[in-house]
Amino acid sequence: MAESPLETLLVVQDHDTGADRLRHRREHLDERAELTAVEAKLAEIDAGRSALASRRAEIDSNERRIGDEVASIAGKATGVERSMYSGEISSPRELQAMQADVEQLRKQQGLLEDRELELMEAHEQLDAEMSDLDVARTAGAEEADRLGRVITEHEAAIDSELVTEFEARTAAAATLPTEVVTTYEKVRKANGVGAARLVGMSCQACHLTVPSTEVDQMRRAAFAGDATGAMNFCDNCGAILVLT
Ligand SMILES: [Zn+2]
Repeated sequence: MAESPLETLLVVQDHDTGADRLRHRREHLDERAELTAVEAKLAEIDAGRSALASRRAEIDSNERRIGDEVASIAGKATGVERSMYSGEISSPRELQAMQADVEQLRKQQGLLEDRELELMEAHEQLDAEMSDLDVARTAGAEEADRLGRVITEHEAAIDSELVTEFEARTAAAATLPTEVVTTYEKVRKANGVGAARLVGMSCQACHLTVPSTEVDQMRRAAFAGDATGAMNFCDNCGAILVLT
């Protein structure tokens, strides 16, 4: 008995299913999800780094302002001291008052210098945090590059498998009557599956049972002769049924 041309339709369907599977694999590569996670991590690092940078800029400007104040107060104190020791002032009361001024200024200077030291420490702490983030960023960027390369390799391998599927599918489809292929493509577009084997009374696409009276009719028509002329469809999923 000659093989039904619809058997070839199942070959076409196999290649189409294979190609669908390959496209799905291409879209859902593990590395793609990993890359998305790494990119999210990098964005987080960048946001953290820019927050640290603006805090550091604020500290920098406070450091400069306090540094200027320290210099100005120290200058004043030195000026008063210079006058005190110049020998030009002889009044003990005046000298005492000047001494009190100097003490007051040096005290202010000391407080500001303490503050300056705190700011320097905060600055160093921020620098250390930023450099930790830089290290993490470099590592993350390298990982992203690696994942990008792996994805490209996988895609190329899958694409070449897709070409193989496509060529085999085209060769199989070329042996079929055009109207069979056209119907198959229409059905496949509408339902996802274009052709399925009928095993016993069960459609292998949706696994539902086709009523036995219908199956009997299909078999009688098939044995009567032209299998392509009378295509049978699954009532449930719409697939073209290929009788064994
Ligand atoms: Zn079905």
